[in-house]
Amino acid sequence: MNSTLARRTRTKRIWMVSLLICGLALCGTALASAAPVAPAIPVGAEASSHFDVATATDAWLSKVSGPARKHSDSYFEGGYWLILLDFLATVAAMLLLLETKASAWMRNFAERITRLKFFEYWIYFIELVLAASILTFPLTVYEGWVREHTYGLSNQTFGAWLSEQLIALGLTLVLGGLAFSVLIAIVQKLPRTWPVWGAIIALLFVTIGAVIGPVFIAPLFNRYKPLENQVIKNQILSMARANGIPAHDVYEVDASRQSKRVSANVSGLFGTDRITLNDNLLARCSPEAIMAVMGHEMGHYVMHHIYNGLMFAAIVIVVMFSMLRWGLDKLVDRFGGRWRLHNTTDLAAVPVAILILAALGFLLTPIQNSFARAQEYEADIFGLNASRQPDGEAEVDLLLGEYWKLDPGPLEEVLFFDHPSGRTRITAAMRWKAENLCLFDPALPCGSVSVAKPSPK
Ligand SMILES: [Zn+2]
Repeated sequence: MNSTLARRTRTKRIWMVSLLICGLALCGTALASAAPVAPAIPVGAEASSHFDVATATDAWLSKVSGPARKHSDSYFEGGYWLILLDFLATVAAMLLLLETKASAWMRNFAERITRLKFFEYWIYFIELVLAASILTFPLTVYEGWVREHTYGLSNQTFGAWLSEQLIALGLTLVLGGLAFSVLIAIVQKLPRTWPVWGAIIALLFVTIGAVIGPVFIAPLFNRYKPLENQVIKNQILSMARANGIPAHDVYEVDASRQSKRVSANVSGLFGTDRITLNDNLLARCSPEAIMAVMGHEMGHYVMHHIYNGLMFAAIVIVVMFSMLRWGLDKLVDRFGGRWRLHNTTDLAAVPVAILILAALGFLLTPIQNSFARAQEYEADIFGLNASRQPDGEAEVDLLLGEYWKLDPGPLEEVLFFDHPSGRTRITAAMRWKAENLCLFDPALPCGSVSVAKPSPK
């Protein structure tokens, strides 16, 4: 699932929306030109009568070591600081708009432009988004373009990257403006009960975003088409049928337009749901790894993770809106005069609301990550059982290790990882392999090898 250190390279999406688009995000350093081959199983991880889970896990992990390991650790750990930096940048931008009375000026300007309240809200939203985008632009360029190029993860020119940012900005001004205006109308019409009604409407918009995302929004950035490789497609559809998934097509996306990362995802709702593989994955991974990835994605589908994500979002929105109202009362009461705000439901108080929501979002990051990580682990286990490709899973986990920290500490994983770490995932794959050795060597037993020692994590 999304909203992550890894996914901050694209447009900054509302995290609740990103929560709904779940992907096994991976990356690569270069597209392979040769045809995919079977996973290169390291010494110590082959099926044998003395197969050991910990030894096999370490053997896989040792394939990414030295400078390569340092490179990905450095990239991923840099993302920890970006969480803080993003938060501080939002706080600084909103305080600037309040302290300079720019927010009050923008409200007055919107009032002068139109008498229709709904459009007044929309105009204020446009002013606010443009101001915030300009103020945080240097950080956005660093995060989205400079840093990605420094670490060799991007395929985009600055012009191509910037044009995508502008498309995303346009979408925000139109769709975000609509949602914002409806929410503000509710806040002003129902000043006492808006946290409840606002949460319901916000959830409705998140749901609509999830439904239209794959059909109307994603194609603005990439080209989607049915998977062309018939051999892989048939294997995938067979696995889908075996798991009760009524799929007739698997989609392929040209993600190499933007980056070298390998990924797949499940997106959509109520009939727009689909599984999509990206072209980097198809070019770089063995068929075993592709099946492992698809098993994982099918796990999300079968276990209704998108719907679970919506329920989680509903709880978070209600809690956040309730705390928002309390925080608005306190801050507007204390600083309202200084910032020229009429009351808590004043349009010009929106930067105060954003300050509070940013602080809550910052504090909720570990909870959000842990919710997503738990679902990802479930999908991993489902994927292993569906695909029976533990070595393919380990191969993919190492590709992920090119930009995710492969072997973090336990607390680090809880706080910052929205997918299980490479060590956790490979341990699960090797544990599965230890109980199913006969699939890889008919001379070996299945389910009776007492070598599955407790994993280190
Ligand atoms: Zn996933």
